Amino acid sequence: MKKHYDLIAIGAGSGGISIAERAAQYGASCAVAESGRLGGTCVNVGCVPKKVMWNAATLAHALRDAPDYAFDVSRNGFDWAALKHKRDAYVGNINSWYETYLKDSEIDLIRGHARFHDAHTLRVDGREVSAEHIVIAPGTRPMLPDIPGAGLGITSDGFFELSEVPRRVAIAGSGYIAVELAGVLNALGAEVSLFLRKQHLLREFDAMLREGLMEAMLDDGISILPMTQIAAVSREGDDKLRLELDNGQHLAGYDQLIWAIGREPNTDGLDFERAGVETDSKGFVPVDAWQNTSVPGIYALGDIIGKAQLTPVAIAAARRLGDRLFGNQPERRLDYELIPSVVFSHPPIATVGLSEDEARARHGDAVRIYQSRFTPMYHAFTSHPVKVSMKLVTVGAREKVVGCHVIGIGADEMLQGFAVAMRMGATKQDFDDTIAIHPTGAEELVTMR
Ligand code: FAD
Ligand code: NDP
Repeated sequence: MKKHYDLIAIGAGSGGISIAERAAQYGASCAVAESGRLGGTCVNVGCVPKKVMWNAATLAHALRDAPDYAFDVSRNGFDWAALKHKRDAYVGNINSWYETYLKDSEIDLIRGHARFHDAHTLRVDGREVSAEHIVIAPGTRPMLPDIPGAGLGITSDGFFELSEVPRRVAIAGSGYIAVELAGVLNALGAEVSLFLRKQHLLREFDAMLREGLMEAMLDDGISILPMTQIAAVSREGDDKLRLELDNGQHLAGYDQLIWAIGREPNTDGLDFERAGVETDSKGFVPVDAWQNTSVPGIYALGDIIGKAQLTPVAIAAARRLGDRLFGNQPERRLDYELIPSVVFSHPPIATVGLSEDEARARHGDAVRIYQSRFTPMYHAFTSHPVKVSMKLVTVGAREKVVGCHVIGIGADEMLQGFAVAMRMGATKQDFDDTIAIHPTGAEELVTMR
């Protein structure tokens, strides 16, 4: 017999699990349908395994710096396969934890691929289930370009399958994933070339951040090729990859090519037309400010809406939707402004609010910038000093802080609290009135002149 729920989520990733969890806490009967591994992208092929690799790469940098702090160390090798094994086990434990957690939370897990039968009914691998509310949270998958031989390259999913460090790697792309994987692979022993189809990496970020990162990556030995697009890929006799560029040049001898050129929606076979759910030209599901799709009772959240593709955003949107639908909070919704984020590059980048260019475009001469660039104390002792750069973007006579950007050691753990202050409307004077924590890098943010 067909089971009827208060809510079903399509996808047991960050968003799907969070909406079911919050709804169940209010006493709603809930299910999640999942065709893959529990936890979705973040847990299996995203934030979690990526951060393990970033930690390993950060340790490699620390080992390089250790003699400068008078340690007598030698780096005898790095066992990529052993770390992968441990990382996979860690992720496996999270998968199992989720299974138990869903059971304990009385959320039904329906394994299989979900598709719409009508606006209130899903078919999951032949089994029919229905709900008052259906939440579309199937996430996205990495894109491949439409060029000959593209399939000879891998994506971030394939990166997490690698059982050894490739000797020579080409990475195509300029966003979060391209710079994060470039930093990790470079630190762990690969020779990395980054192919940017335009002039800049992280093009949408504040110029100080992208220029600082470009400089640090070049200093670290990463080769960056701006304005270079790969037009075709082929395999050579020696099993290496050969890249044909759009300028007619050929480059050969790569062990791996990684495409990091963005992600596309996981909407294949969802049969949206049966429910009347509309998509945009790229296949993402547009929603209003309350996560409503074009069909009453059907919502979308997380990466599938095509903006702010970050785990905490999916979780926050889900929890607020749960509060609205089942917690008697009709106005509860996620504000997509002032979303802080960290790029786990080497060095890391942390950013929240408007870039200088965005602020000037919106507020013109009312913008005042405070900026600082310095060698952090840690690197005053090392032979590979990496600078820290910071910028505050303020607006108006009260100098409200509308943007805060940091690149450098510790940036990843620095910005969370400043994001709280900015949400509360902090001004430059509030920053100045806050006592510094000494000696840290973060203190510079409250002492800038
Ligand atoms: P997902 O987590 O992708 O979950 C969707 C789930 O739906 C999947 O499990 C999928 O199998 C399932 N599914 C799809 N279609 C169906 C169907 N028809 N039926 C049943 N199940 C289906 N974000 C951060 O905040 N910090 C980071 O450091 C970070 N690092 C990242 C690193 C990488 C390499 C990548 C790729 C992403 C990273 N992200 C990071 C982004 C983050 O992973 C996503 O924003 C987040 O996972 C989105 O959650 P979601 O619930 O929308 O989708
Ligand atoms: P992004 O959207 O961040 O960057 C991809 C970039 O690649 C594009 O912006 C574009 O830049 C470039 N590009 C597009 N097509 C091509 C092409 N054919 N050839 C060469 N370059 C191309 O995508 P990612 O895949 O890096 O990451 C997806 C999302 O996942 C991120 O936006 C982020 O939201 C999330 N994520 C978050 C992380 C974190 O929080 N630390 C880490 C990893 C991912 P241009 O137009 O300048 O060429």
